[in-house]
Amino acid sequence: MLSLIAFDADDTLWHNEDLYRDARDEFRALLAPYAPPPDLDDIVHETEMRNLPYYGFGVSSFTLSLIETAIAVTGGRITGAEIDRLLAIARHMISADIRLIDEVEDTLAALSADYPLLLITKGDLLHQQDKVARSGLGRYFSGVEVVSDKTAATYADILRRRGVEPARFLMVGNSLRSDVLPVAEIGGHAVYVPIEVAWVYDVVDLPDGLPGTVHQVARLGEVVPLVRRLARPGP
Ligand SMILES: [Mg+2]
Repeated sequence: MLSLIAFDADDTLWHNEDLYRDARDEFRALLAPYAPPPDLDDIVHETEMRNLPYYGFGVSSFTLSLIETAIAVTGGRITGAEIDRLLAIARHMISADIRLIDEVEDTLAALSADYPLLLITKGDLLHQQDKVARSGLGRYFSGVEVVSDKTAATYADILRRRGVEPARFLMVGNSLRSDVLPVAEIGGHAVYVPIEVAWVYDVVDLPDGLPGTVHQVARLGEVVPLVRRLARPGP
């Protein structure tokens, strides 16, 4: 039996990755006059990965990595006006309208009737809290955890604080790396809901023999029947 269900937020409850994709497109267009290297996207990604220990996840971190990349690939010729444009892109990403994923409202309403729901997200604290508030979905959750990273230790700590055994915990999310693997590693249930074009960082191979269970559904609306199946007593 389950006693706690948690959801990831970005690209699980609302669209997010497409904002980053648009920002990367704009970044490429902005730097085009400087004839940047053809592997500009890879350089941005490498810069983001190098900066994770300093800035963590989220739009602020992404923006600093864009500025750093712009300075590097233009040999310092990027102008103040162009950096200002990058900051405007960041403000747009932070203030963009929330676009909910299909079936999210029905899914949360159905599950919150039977289970406490927790939202577990990483990113900028202010931005993530603001999105929860603007989404109108906050009322379905008994708690919101904005964490700096989602590792097995992060989940173990959240469950320990709430007195929940991993075997009675189910996590729903779009990231194999952040929502699925660490939960399966500590013996919980994970439900993977893939998005069309994933961030490369989120894609990892799942090793065999994980202590937990991993389920995959094609869309969020399939989570409710899956939970009901799991809740049914076994033969
Ligand atoms: Mg996500």
